Amino acid sequence: MSDSPAVDADSILACEECLSPAEAFAVVGNETRLSILEALWRMERPAAFSDLRREVGMRDSAQFNYHLSKLTGQFVTKTDDGYDFRSAGRAVIRAVLEGTLNQDPELDPFDVDGECVDCGAPLEATYGNERIRIRCTACGRPHGGYSFPPGGLEDRTREELMSAFNQRARHLSCLSADGVCPECSGRMETSLFEVPDEDPFDLDVRVEHECQRCQHTIVSSVGLVLLDDAEIVSFYRDHGIDLNTVPYWTLEWCVTDNYTVVERAGTVDDPSSWRITLTIPVEDEALVLDLDGELSVLASERRERATA
Ligand SMILES: [Zn+2]
Ligand SMILES: [Zn+2]
Repeated sequence: MSDSPAVDADSILACEECLSPAEAFAVVGNETRLSILEALWRMERPAAFSDLRREVGMRDSAQFNYHLSKLTGQFVTKTDDGYDFRSAGRAVIRAVLEGTLNQDPELDPFDVDGECVDCGAPLEATYGNERIRIRCTACGRPHGGYSFPPGGLEDRTREELMSAFNQRARHLSCLSADGVCPECSGRMETSLFEVPDEDPFDLDVRVEHECQRCQHTIVSSVGLVLLDDAEIVSFYRDHGIDLNTVPYWTLEWCVTDNYTVVERAGTVDDPSSWRITLTIPVEDEALVLDLDGELSVLASERRERATA
């Protein structure tokens, strides 16, 4: 009798026609096989049997062949030209490189570009629990935080790290808004919530993306979801600014709701009836976007703006 727990047929751990996840982990839960995957990753592929064995540094050809054969099929593919990765093999290497499996670094607070949207004091970033968080050095107001795999800290100065973080945060938020989970590529659903005044992010409207497959959840502002909107990007371009390179936490319309107005035709908990106006000021002009409750742009208009 087996002492392993019974796995329901509809469990994510069950699989009739494929390798079960437990079996897959067992295959790669072995120093030699991980070394083979790592060697293959370093090499030009497809790699010949003898070259791969030499790269791993194993003399015993039979031993090496045994471990390689365990990987062949699900993790590694064998062609006439040699061995190459399958997606699963690449995913194992990626998980090791990400550092999420076996690292848990922390960074002391360090200065970042921009100033607090509330009090004007300088901002700082911290790293812990695999997240970068940005906050005001004086009043502590948060200016956003997102996951960032530990592997991404390697070989980067603080400045390079924050630039990478900026790209990653935009990407996560925009991909989620487009309905694709950044973790598992499952279907992501977006909901809007009205938030009480004591919300720590100081937002009246909170956007939540939740993966229907892996439950991965990302919270953002209305502005952040629209960072890759063509209209907004060209509005900035017309003012000589490449929006791609602007840290999102320095954009007030991304980190506050001061530029967002919500009108509710129906009830508070029925966002499909909401109409949202987002005003984006740049110099002497403002781009005004009308959005529906799913954050689709219904109309947009550029208006002159009085500057002080
Ligand atoms: Zn502040
Ligand atoms: Zn997912």
